[in-house]
Amino acid sequence: MADTLIIQTRGLRKEYGSTVALQGLDIEIEAGGIVGILGPNGAGKTTFVETLEGLRKPTSGSVTVLGMNPATQGKALRERLGVQLQKTALPTELTVREMLDLFASFYDSALPSDSILEKVDLLPQARQKAATLSGGQQQRLVVGIALIHDPELVILDEPTTGLDPKARRDLHGVIRELRERGRTTLLTTHYIEEAEHLCDRVIMIRDGEIVADGTPFDLVGQSSESSTIWIQVDGPMDPAPLIAAGVEPLGQEGEHHKFTTTDPTATILALGDMLRSQGLRLEDLRLKRPTLEDVYLELMGDVPEDRGEVSL
Ligand code: ADP
Repeated sequence: MADTLIIQTRGLRKEYGSTVALQGLDIEIEAGGIVGILGPNGAGKTTFVETLEGLRKPTSGSVTVLGMNPATQGKALRERLGVQLQKTALPTELTVREMLDLFASFYDSALPSDSILEKVDLLPQARQKAATLSGGQQQRLVVGIALIHDPELVILDEPTTGLDPKARRDLHGVIRELRERGRTTLLTTHYIEEAEHLCDRVIMIRDGEIVADGTPFDLVGQSSESSTIWIQVDGPMDPAPLIAAGVEPLGQEGEHHKFTTTDPTATILALGDMLRSQGLRLEDLRLKRPTLEDVYLELMGDVPEDRGEVSL
């Protein structure tokens, strides 16, 4: 195994009775950066990350995290791995600061609790009982707990679900800062925009299988979806040269001629020729490329219902 591989699974399969949650995943993740596991409910995201954490045992196949087997080396692994607890696992009687101090005591070395509270914006709540925090604050607390021992690898299961836009943006900042310090974050999400804007690599899974894997930029580039182009010119325009170049006209939108194309580069070249030959001046040009949501739609057939408004 190469030194930089922080996670490696080979033929990772998980069955619950007759349900196959993971169908034999081969995944390699290198150290550094933010990797998103994106998929609809029931795709197998939680099963995957909890298998990496050693909380679930694979039916077959192998899993290596930080060079260790999570099923048998859980204790050593947890010194270097940050895991987001379920909110329901929080002890109810402790204050926020006591809770962080408690978790800090589990590790050989830990960061000062207040530095974590500052990071997840919970300093004002430090003396409040954790049970009385709002849902979003509890969510931030469990992320803070995952970071208390400054782990090399942080695994977060839907960390931003239920957060308001500001808390979500702040948490994105915390995760980006981990990247700046060379840490690796693996997170699951069903927010497509979050995956697109936050993650360096997106692994899309559906029914326990990988259906796409790459940078958001590359995944969007592989899309067979069309781009839309809007053109505004300073006189009457004959779009025949564009149509000859394979562009499909969609009529007028206000002052703009609207087209779709699967080859925007060729379209822009044809547009330049057309403007010159018809003596027209280009007043406005807008281009909308496919997004990760279009790729997701192609692969999954549907977008998740509770996409929420992701403010980035
Ligand atoms: P996701 O996190 O993407 O929503 P899960 O890993 O929770 O997906 O679930 C994947 C599939 O496995 C689903 O069909 C789910 O119903 C099933 N599943 C998950 N956990 C269990 C379990 N403990 N017992 C039985 N089936 C489960």
